Amino acid sequence: MKYFSTNLNTEPVNFKEALFKGLASDGGLFMPENIPYLSKEFFKEKMTYSELATEMIYPFIGEEIDKLSLNEICKSAFNFSVPVVNIHSNLSVLELFHGPTLAFKDFAARFMARLMQYFMQNKNEERTIIVATSGDTGSAVANGFYKLAGINVIILYPSGRVSKIQEQQLTTLGENIKAVEIEGSFDDCQKIVKKAFLDYEIKEKINLSSANSINIARLLPQTVYYAWAWKYLECPKDVIISVPSGNFGNLTGGLFAKRMGLPITKLLASVNSNDIFPNYLNNGFFQSKESVSTLSNAMDVGNPSNFARIQSLYCSEINEIRKDIISTSVSDKLTIKSLLEIKQKYNYLADPHTAVGLYGIKKNILKSQMGVVLSTAHHGKFADIIEPIINKKIKLPKQLREALKLPKDSMKIKNKYNDFKSILLDY
Ligand SMILES: *Cc1c(COP(=O)(O)O)cnc(C)c1O
Repeated sequence: MKYFSTNLNTEPVNFKEALFKGLASDGGLFMPENIPYLSKEFFKEKMTYSELATEMIYPFIGEEIDKLSLNEICKSAFNFSVPVVNIHSNLSVLELFHGPTLAFKDFAARFMARLMQYFMQNKNEERTIIVATSGDTGSAVANGFYKLAGINVIILYPSGRVSKIQEQQLTTLGENIKAVEIEGSFDDCQKIVKKAFLDYEIKEKINLSSANSINIARLLPQTVYYAWAWKYLECPKDVIISVPSGNFGNLTGGLFAKRMGLPITKLLASVNSNDIFPNYLNNGFFQSKESVSTLSNAMDVGNPSNFARIQSLYCSEINEIRKDIISTSVSDKLTIKSLLEIKQKYNYLADPHTAVGLYGIKKNILKSQMGVVLSTAHHGKFADIIEPIINKKIKLPKQLREALKLPKDSMKIKNKYNDFKSILLDY
């Protein structure tokens, strides 16, 4: 399979190159030249999660990997449960937070890490992955790459601007994972990362790769659980899936699955007050804005980067996009209302991101439809936000309790590119 750039200003590349490059050289996002088609009968077959993942991902990579190796990668990456929890008769939650860092980003990060390692085999090659994070991505990437031979990871995060739990998850692993704390904002971290990729001296000396969310390898595993939920629900005829969305990577995974033949009626992009996408569907103009801070902070995105992929998938035909996607913006006030209502009515404790998704479905579902909400994080990750809302202490899952006990190990530096560069060169 070849991958082209959404900016169409550079030659298509093979999968491996798209994986290690992340971003195309013209600044566009990589897209597969075609979306493989699997029959409805295929989606009805009984399979384990890793079998399903192998069958759905393999055609995107093609001859660059053998199927057995891909299956091994899937087995080891997706070694946790992916339950569908029934909330009431026509509403279910697909829990995507049972991986090691308790957010759905584990699917993508664990898969990408193993795939990179596969393509690096027998070469004695060393690679350094750098990633800027505002919270969840960093810990998923750190965990995904933890102890993988030949790969070093450097995570940049804004000092004092990630939650205590998130910071502990980032800074306590050791081994091949290094955390660098920048005296600046998330945007400053991202600027430093971008500068490093353009630095000639670094390019000469270090094999750099990025693990940011626009990598196509992070998208592919996000197609699989849509089919998993559909199977689990015994192939419903009319199903709407609500996706708590920020950068729209998760939603784009769902669009790929639909294009592959999975019979989903509609995808619902549930967003917080960062309402660029619903505005676009309403009035036809995509107007990016500065992001605003909300309770569902992993979705505070003012310029969703996967929009370029959605445009490409639908040849920019907004009416075709409207047939497949609807979108709702949910304020913090309604997020709290939704969280409390689901807790009181159904005794289900959602995190703020999932609460946005639940409100979205409540507003949009038709009586005859089956609704599924993707739950993107465990509520324990956002205990500091939820406890005052429900007025009760939350018992943290074991992973989080353990991360809180370990000593923090990070290097704090000024917001200066050269300080970071010397760390990189000495690593
Ligand atoms: C990253 C994240 C999202 C948003 O996912 P996108 O693919 O960026 O739309 C939603 N919820 C949580 C908990 C996240 O970490």
